[in-house]
Amino acid sequence: MASRVCLVHYHEVGLKGKNRAHFERMLMDSLKAACAAFSISCVTRISGHILMTFSAPGDADRAFDVIRSVPGVARVSLAYHTNREPDEYCRAAVRALGEAGEFDTFKVAAKRSNTDYPLTSMDLNQQVGSVLCEAFPQKRVKMRDPDVTVHVLVVQGSVYVYARSVRGVGGLPVGSAGKVVTLLSSGIDSPVATWMLARRGAVCVPVHFSGRPQTADTSEYLCQDIIAALAPAIQIGRLYVVPFGDCQREISLACPSALRVIMYRRVMYAVAERIARIEGAKAIVTGESLGQVASQTLENIMAVNEVVSLPVFRPLIGSDKQEIIERAEKIGTYDISCETAPDCCTLFMPRSPETHAKLDQVHEAWELFDHEAMIERLVDAVEYVDFESGSYRPPRRLRERHAELAPREQ
Ligand code: ATP
Ligand code: MG
Repeated sequence: MASRVCLVHYHEVGLKGKNRAHFERMLMDSLKAACAAFSISCVTRISGHILMTFSAPGDADRAFDVIRSVPGVARVSLAYHTNREPDEYCRAAVRALGEAGEFDTFKVAAKRSNTDYPLTSMDLNQQVGSVLCEAFPQKRVKMRDPDVTVHVLVVQGSVYVYARSVRGVGGLPVGSAGKVVTLLSSGIDSPVATWMLARRGAVCVPVHFSGRPQTADTSEYLCQDIIAALAPAIQIGRLYVVPFGDCQREISLACPSALRVIMYRRVMYAVAERIARIEGAKAIVTGESLGQVASQTLENIMAVNEVVSLPVFRPLIGSDKQEIIERAEKIGTYDISCETAPDCCTLFMPRSPETHAKLDQVHEAWELFDHEAMIERLVDAVEYVDFESGSYRPPRRLRERHAELAPREQ
């Protein structure tokens, strides 16, 4: 009897030379965490793939869709696992091709990873191919560019047969590239920027600036919903929330109105950098896209950037809004981001914000309020919410220096 399994293919992980085993272990850990809701019975390496088996019927099919969105997965195939009996694997090939949907042409691609098997790959192609031709008399074999390929993989005592195979999101397993702090608003862009860094293997620690107590806390819950939408493929372990409303009020009273947004952003970056240092994060990530809104001109980006010394990554800087929206839809955050919430962006907004800030004016405005004390106060007031995550490790210093960051009452 054939059983259903998932075969995970990876590219970049395989390229990492000496680190390969380490990366494969990380990918296996990510896969286990992402599929924790299913009855996983085994996750193991077989001949350049990762094999995942499940004990409950239907779980391999259900896990298939989750697996494709796990960073590090180049491709995933829903396969039948059989023994080496030709009757068994040929029957599995008929079932696999039967599930391939609409098609006119097909071919068989067999591969043996053990040479002790009596049939060569060519023999296997012919053997399985002739059974399929009999079972699907209306369909044609086509060697170049067929509609469907039935793969037959012989590994030790087992044969894996599949036709259903989809591309994964690619990238690298989360945790393989260190930690970053991401500035997460509940807008469309920053969830996408966060996702992009996670796909490149970074553990993302989002920081959200809320308009509380000057506004309601709706945007904070939208951020939590965004984190829930990225899971289980990308598991964010902690969301930091900074109640920013009172400080924005203070800035708006002290500074020229055209420079307010730049002052808010400078404080936000500085607080994010402090959190990054506590977390051991080595970069700050934002969802900025050049010229998208008034605050995202080169001059303004420069005027904000100068308050921090960690690298600031803006993975969307060259993307068009439509591309960002398409990605947001794919990762499941778009609808959440479209819900309106008063957040600190809408609070105390000037009627005409500066679009090309002059540095000397920015520096003058920066001295109009006690920014050092404000940053200190905000870091003291930071709250956080924790989530299930296989890759996030909270900073040890946090417990020792509790005054620095107090846990939020749920
Ligand atoms: P988004 O869709 O991510 O809100 P946006 O197009 O609305 O971006 P801005 O509001 O100018 O652009 O924000 C630029 C970037 O600054 C955001 O992508 C985000 O990284 C960061 N940011 C803005 N507001 C907040 C906030 N309230 N909390 C945390 N980060 C924020
Ligand atoms: Mg915004």
